[in-house]
Amino acid sequence: MSDLSIQCKIPDLNCYNANMTKVYDLHCHSTASDGVLSPEEVVMRAVTNGVNVLALTDHDDTSGLAAAKAKASLTELEFINGIELSVSWSHQTIHIVGLHINPETESLQSGLETLCQFRNWRAEEIAKRLEKKGITGAFEGASQFASGPILSRTHFARFLLQQGYAKDMRQVFKRYLVSGKPGYVPGKWATLEDALQWINDANGMAIIAHPARYRLSATRMRQLLAEFKELGGVAIEVVSGSHSKDDVHNMAEMANRFEFAASVGSDFHSPDNQYTDLGRFCPIPSKCTPIWQLDRWKEIVSSSQVSD
Ligand code: AMP
Ligand code: MN
Ligand code: MN
Ligand code: MN
Repeated sequence: MSDLSIQCKIPDLNCYNANMTKVYDLHCHSTASDGVLSPEEVVMRAVTNGVNVLALTDHDDTSGLAAAKAKASLTELEFINGIELSVSWSHQTIHIVGLHINPETESLQSGLETLCQFRNWRAEEIAKRLEKKGITGAFEGASQFASGPILSRTHFARFLLQQGYAKDMRQVFKRYLVSGKPGYVPGKWATLEDALQWINDANGMAIIAHPARYRLSATRMRQLLAEFKELGGVAIEVVSGSHSKDDVHNMAEMANRFEFAASVGSDFHSPDNQYTDLGRFCPIPSKCTPIWQLDRWKEIVSSSQVSD
């Protein structure tokens, strides 16, 4: 039995996959967005946890990639440049992961600049709304928890938690930061079309992050998957640190029905372990095609080995 099986959050699934030669974790965060470890620390924790292939996928930002890649080059870890883009789709926020992106792509960077401007405006707006409820200093307070360029709801959550407004992250979001609550400001993120364009321009592969988290009806899920496919999306996250056992089964079904490859990621943010730790999850169900078995993935990996 591999060590993975001990930590697995979904005990009923077959956690030991003899065919899985490498451990992939293709979704996680550093201090470049709302994670608490630096990009270098994320890499070292992944190595310690037995991850072989890691993608750093910070929210709407690529500034952590160079440091993570440099650190990984000193280890056996295979590092992949990634991002998690915020998208507004049909009155809902959806996250799209881009893997193997070239971060220097102009359209991607100018898109990120627009998202960053919205984030800055939103952060001030969140603070104003909280102030109306008697919570002062939220902008400065949240900023103190952010060491990168991204100011996220997670930073507001950490500030509110520090001030004693809730007992844990789950409760702080539920009370203050989700739709209908005092600190909620609706997102005006990228369109799905733009996000796919930027990822495709950056020679990356697009994946729908944690699809079960959006709680879409079957009709809307079909609509999203059809649009995503039409725009060039290649995979959905079947295994995510934030998916339950049922979610994994349902998303495996969806991936096969819509002919998507399956991706896998912890969505690690901090050792406090909101979802799961780096590399600690079950393998992709055997009926799915892992994203790393796609020809495009193999081509990208072999061409990067030639140019390294
Ligand atoms: P933002 O992109 O700034 O709106 O922040 C979204 C981030 O907040 C997500 O990436 C999660 O890390 C975090 N988040 C969202 N909902 C919750 C929740 N219910 N509990 C804890 N963290 C959450
Ligand atoms: Mn996050
Ligand atoms: Mn996400
Ligand atoms: Mn994430």
